Parts: sequence; structure tokens; C-alpha cells
Amino acid sequence: MLTVEEALEAILSRVPLLETERVDVLGALGRALAEPVVARRAIPPWPNSSMDGYAVRAEDTRRGAALAIVGRVEAGEVPARGVGQGEAMRIFTGAPLPEGADTVLPQEDVEATADSIALRGPTARAAYVRRRGEDVEVGARVLEPGTLLTAAEVGLLATLGYGQIRVFRRPRVAILSTGNELADLGTEPGPGQIPNTNTYTLMAQVLEAGGDPINLGVARDRLEAIEERVRAARDADVLVSSAGVSVGELDLVREALTRAGAALHLWQVSMRPGKPITFGSLGSRPVWGLPGNPVSAMVTFELFVRPALLKMGGRRRLTRPRVRARTLEVVPNPGSRRGYLRVQLEATADGLGARLTGEQGSAILRSMVAADGLAVVPPDTVVPVGAEIEVIQLRDLP
Ligand code: AMP
Ligand code: MG
Repeated sequence: MLTVEEALEAILSRVPLLETERVDVLGALGRALAEPVVARRAIPPWPNSSMDGYAVRAEDTRRGAALAIVGRVEAGEVPARGVGQGEAMRIFTGAPLPEGADTVLPQEDVEATADSIALRGPTARAAYVRRRGEDVEVGARVLEPGTLLTAAEVGLLATLGYGQIRVFRRPRVAILSTGNELADLGTEPGPGQIPNTNTYTLMAQVLEAGGDPINLGVARDRLEAIEERVRAARDADVLVSSAGVSVGELDLVREALTRAGAALHLWQVSMRPGKPITFGSLGSRPVWGLPGNPVSAMVTFELFVRPALLKMGGRRRLTRPRVRARTLEVVPNPGSRRGYLRVQLEATADGLGARLTGEQGSAILRSMVAADGLAVVPPDTVVPVGAEIEVIQLRDLP
């Protein structure tokens, strides 16, 4: 059986990079940059004041000196004249520094009358002056391809005058649920039926990973039905199905994928929850058959599908952050497979603490609802209280 790392490597080596497109700068939020960004202007474009006060020459700032006020410049204006020896100009935050001045005295540091200011002492040259290019120099390479665009990058692009920018396309991900027992949302489950959960968790996970989900609905456990849906996913970049990948006689997803023309690369990974997971290629399009239990489907999506979607979308960093935490209770992982156990994290005097979110069965979705992360626990291990464990962080820390 493959390790999680081997399986992920096999997957990532086979997923294609999507095309790029130019989009409005705000539409680029959450996507990966497809080109380097070079500054076409300096930020700030000219030296300016960071305070309301007086623009002066540093050499004139002596205790008891009096400087004549020779003008006034507000943000948005251009100074009408320069500042000479013994002179000062009234200046406001963001206004350009007049020629000849190199320093700003904050208004609270001087005694001002209508036409002059008295100084309390010397001031360092360039105090309260934001120099040209102090944020960004012209020609500087400020963003690299593969960078995830967040609010700060969007702001930087706007500052540099980019109304549009080239980013990677979002992956279109078809989601298929399989199983005779499934009643879809909007229909009351009949006798022997259970509600369809996976379609909705998986579509939500696709959205969280920056993809566009396409709902293929529910297919019955019949080869032709599954095969027909797989073929219907032609417009998608990726297909993710759940359930029907074990060894039962109703586990038909692998065969249906093969019949639809997919080459299957792996099956079964040594992990808990999870294990039966299929990955293949339909032409150049990646396809997954995830396990049916809701937690297994979510965890295998998290470990194998999410990094692949990020890679397709041009992202450089594919993994979630991992944090170290101390166990606040005994964490058992019996059996020969590595555990990905749902834990809640809390801040303690001693750093982060972790406790299980309760019953860890792969059908207990509420253990996932309560989880801040997945603790990675080696096989056949009972982690004692107070030991350090590694946790894949799934949400903002409490
Ligand atoms: P299977 O792999 O088909 O044997 O499914 C494993 C378990 O997951 C069974 O108990 C199924 O009823 C359940 N299951 C499969 N698909 C879904 C789904 N879409 N939503 C909720 N439970 C599911
Ligand atoms: Mg089934």
C-alpha cells in the first residue's frame, strides 16, 4: 500500500497546469499570478511629508531659531516655490516637499505665529519625510509568478496602475456522488435511504480551494449510470467522485472510470480515515474516486485533491500550514495505518494544546465540524498526554 507522500507525489506529477487569463485586479483575488510584476512607477512618486507641520532645511533647525513661513502646500497641490535658508513652508501629510527643504517639523514641535515659527532644537535631516521610492523603486520586481493574490497584493497592483493582471484560470471540478442509498438535498430520504452529504462538502471544499464546482448529482450503483456521468463531465478540468471504490460487488467506480477511458494510477493509501482512494487520468484530466464515508471523503480531498487543484491553478505553495501542539488527552491510533485525527486546538500557557474532537469514526461528520486541524499520528501509537504532535491546520487558530 502506498504512503500518503508517495500517493501525493504520484498525483502531483500527473496534474496539468491550467491556462492563464487576464482579469480585473479585484477578480484576481485568491488566484495565482501568472506573470512577474515589475513596478512601472515609484511609490511614493516624490518626497512628501508624513506629518502636518513645516517643511524646512535641517541645517536651520537650532534651538531658538526663528524661520519665516513663506507659503503653504496641501496634499494634492504642488509647492508654488522652494524653501531657502531661514525659511519654512506650512505642509500637510502627503503633500510634496518643496525644493530646498529636506526635513519636516511636526506642528506640535514648534511655536507658530501667523508668519513665523520658533524652534525648540535641532532635528535630524529627513525627519518625517517619505523619500521617493521608499516603498517601491521604479523597475523593481515586486511580485513573482505563482504568488497567491491577497488583499495586500491587490492594493499593490492598483497602486502600480494595473487595472488588469494575468492569473491562472480556476479549475472546473465536477463532483459526482454514487450510491443506491442516496437521497439528494430537497427530497426526503425514503426507507433505507440516507441524505447525500458528500456532494455538498466536496463542492464547498472545491470553492475553498479556489475552484468552480459542477454538480453531477447522484449516480446509482450501476456501471452504465456511473460511466454515463463520467462522460458527462467532459467540460470539467477535474472529476471527483465519492463512494463505490472499495472491494464490494457494488463498488463499481473504478471499472466505470476505466470503461469511460480513464487510466488508473493508484488505489489504496495507508491512512485512516481513507485507504480506498483511486486516482487516474481521463486524457489529461485528473479523476479521483474518493471513499464514501463523509469524513473519509473530506480528509482525502484535503490531502490529495486540494494540493492538486492548487497546483493546476498555478500556486507555488500547495500545503496547509503545520503546527506543533501538545496533547491535552491521550490520542490513540491503533492499527497499521497512519492516522489523520480530528483535533481541536487551544492556546495554553505552554503553547498550543490539542484534544480529539470526540468519536473518530469516518461517518461522524460532527468530528470534522469541531476540528481545527488533523493530527498526524504514526501507526500503532498511543500518544500520551503532554507529548508533541504535528497538526495540519485547517482553519484560523482560536
Ligand atoms: P461505499 O464506499 O459506497 O461503501 O460507501 C461508504 C459509506 O459511505 C456508506 O455507508 C455510504 O452510505 C456512505 N456514503 C456514500 N456516499 C455518500 C454520500 N454522498 N453522502 C453521505 N454518505 C455517503
Ligand atoms: Mg456504496
